Amino acid sequence: MGRRLGVMGGTFDPIHYGHLVTAEEALEQFELEGVLFVPTGRPWMKEHEVVSPPEDRYLMTVIATASNPLFSVSRIEVDRDGPTYTVETLRSLKNELDADLFFVTGADAILEMLQWKEPEELFELAHFIAATRPGYDIAGFEVPAHARDAVSVMNIPALAISSTDIRSRVQAGGPIRYLVPEGVKSYIEKAGLYR
Ligand code: ATP
Ligand code: MG
Repeated sequence: MGRRLGVMGGTFDPIHYGHLVTAEEALEQFELEGVLFVPTGRPWMKEHEVVSPPEDRYLMTVIATASNPLFSVSRIEVDRDGPTYTVETLRSLKNELDADLFFVTGADAILEMLQWKEPEELFELAHFIAATRPGYDIAGFEVPAHARDAVSVMNIPALAISSTDIRSRVQAGGPIRYLVPEGVKSYIEKAGLYR
């Protein structure tokens, strides 16, 4: 059996406790040896949205994961020009790391991925772990036959936290303490993000 490595992709604008709990649960439930966080460059699905600079999102991810020896952060997408594609990232990671990859997502992200045109290659590159997420009904959803062996549903303590909500709170001057790690909160203030 090869090494079992988790990959947690995300925009992380900003990273919050929903992401961290999801990664920690995957580590434990799927006996992974570590989780690699991969902040996106320019996510193609969010092309019409304003996304913070990749470097800020990368640094917040480093700050949030620094205290966990089993978490690390990759610059692979941040350093790549043009839109980000998960297939390409998984292909490079697979070549580079020679490990069995477990791509960790929330319910919303897996539901979206299953609608992509050719998810078959995706499913060959990694096993997919779909975490339950408040507001997205994963229980009532059928994994299509072709993807059944490639996707596992993972129950986690429900955290109704989203980056979208955190950004609006910052803009409105509302509280974000206890939704994000203290260091991320400080970084947001220092860099003047989401005002
Ligand atoms: P946004 O509101 O900007 O889309 P987000 O909170 O959804 O931000 P993303 O960076 O888009 O965060 O998500 C990265 C991954 O983490 C996705 O797979 C998403 O489903 C998952 N995720 C985010 N928040 C949670 C949560 N509270 N519980 C479970 N999974 C989550
Ligand atoms: Mg999202």
